[in-house]
Amino acid sequence: MSKVRVRFAPSPTGYLHVGGARTALYNWLFARQQGGTFVLRIEDTDLARSTEESVRGILEGMKFLGLDWDEGPEVGGNYGPYFQTERLGLYREYAQQLMDAGRAYECFCTPEELEEQRRVQREQKLDLHYDGRCRHLTEEQKQAYRAEGRVPVIRFVAETEGQTVIPDLIRGPVVFPNNQVDDFVIIKSDGVPTYNFAVVIDDALMEITHVIRGEDHIPNTPKQIQLYKALGFPIPAFAHIPMILGSDKTRLSKRHGATSVTQFRDEGYLPDAMVNYLALLGWGYDDSQTLFSRAELIEKFSLERVSKNPAVFDFQKLQWMNGVYIRELSLDEFYEKTLPYLHNAGLVPGEPSAEQKQMIMAVLKEMQSRIKLLSEVVEMSRYFFTEDFQYNEDAARKILLKGEGKTVLEHLRQALSQVQEFNHAELEPVFNGAVESLGLKLGKVIQPLRVAVTGTNVSPGIYEVLEIVGKERTLARIDRALAWIAQAEQA
Ligand code: GLU
Repeated sequence: MSKVRVRFAPSPTGYLHVGGARTALYNWLFARQQGGTFVLRIEDTDLARSTEESVRGILEGMKFLGLDWDEGPEVGGNYGPYFQTERLGLYREYAQQLMDAGRAYECFCTPEELEEQRRVQREQKLDLHYDGRCRHLTEEQKQAYRAEGRVPVIRFVAETEGQTVIPDLIRGPVVFPNNQVDDFVIIKSDGVPTYNFAVVIDDALMEITHVIRGEDHIPNTPKQIQLYKALGFPIPAFAHIPMILGSDKTRLSKRHGATSVTQFRDEGYLPDAMVNYLALLGWGYDDSQTLFSRAELIEKFSLERVSKNPAVFDFQKLQWMNGVYIRELSLDEFYEKTLPYLHNAGLVPGEPSAEQKQMIMAVLKEMQSRIKLLSEVVEMSRYFFTEDFQYNEDAARKILLKGEGKTVLEHLRQALSQVQEFNHAELEPVFNGAVESLGLKLGKVIQPLRVAVTGTNVSPGIYEVLEIVGKERTLARIDRALAWIAQAEQA
């Protein structure tokens, strides 16, 4: 069998959507497993909507996910160019070839005439089809149209008898009656090819062996197969992967949450977690396994195990998985990845000193097991770095105002001021002493202090927190809490 060549062919009209990323991933996994070639081709023939910014975003998203391409933008290759707008001459050449063979023709119908055709068809309850009226124009008729200033499109002479079978590796053969296809446009009046034409020329010339793409392209495939046949190109294998839905079973969109890969990146998802999660969105090895390394995915992935049914995007599960991957990082890696978030929030310098780094590492050691998204580190650890943090209102009211909050803080203020060094060995007796002299459970002693020092009632262990925050800041925060209590009691 010929060497596997697959491609991801995004249109640069927006950001890299997670659905597109999953299509890219399945192609990439298949190529890597088969020792094949993964091509990235930019389908930028929609001149009005394609932007360079979108191309950049797509490449950035691919790189973030670690989906490296063997041929395409930035890396080149023997089958280029890899931007469709740089291939316009090729499409015209093949359109001419079809015209010479009588399988394509110039059509001069105006938009108004086409609309009129459809109106009549609607009235007669017919399928809306181009009726082929320009198929047999004489040279004189064409000249006359040109003289009127009309610029033709090129239409394909479609096969309307019989049927076309898509040999689909995921769904099995999908059969389409040819009478559903009409003489579709292959080159528009501005000389730019339509998607269905350009994709066939490119897949054929780039010697793509497997077309793996979203199932929304199934209706296009019979037209494409007709073109392969008319041009005498070998037909590749097709694998149409199911759609991704939101929790309400409609197609995944911004309404459901983040859908752009770079947005996920900015929120602090790790590439390995994204890749693992996206791989499982429509594919599974066996039901018991959820966590797959990249190497394992490459080894185990197969198109046969891709589901025919749509997959529901589960943000909770992705978050959970991201937490798992965060905990697998070394502390150094975790530091590298979280530092930009802390820095952007103004909590730490961009290049911390050795001493600052040590303190940040101590904080991060406590955070690593607690966060699911890298960006969460900012709010979860703010109080370590600044006095500018708010109390959680509910926690403060419940714990500082009710019960023994004030008594406890007054006692601890006094006792902690006597401690020389804030470390576990010296702090422990203070808390044991408070339990005894106040006659309270340890938890009742710790909670008010926790609110005072962290602003919330959930935090790492109190000794670890106090050690990092240090004596001076702890005492000042107790004073702040006592002042808050006094004010709240007056109000
Ligand atoms: N440019 C098309 C898209 O983004 C590619 C479809 C295909 O893979 O054939 O949907």
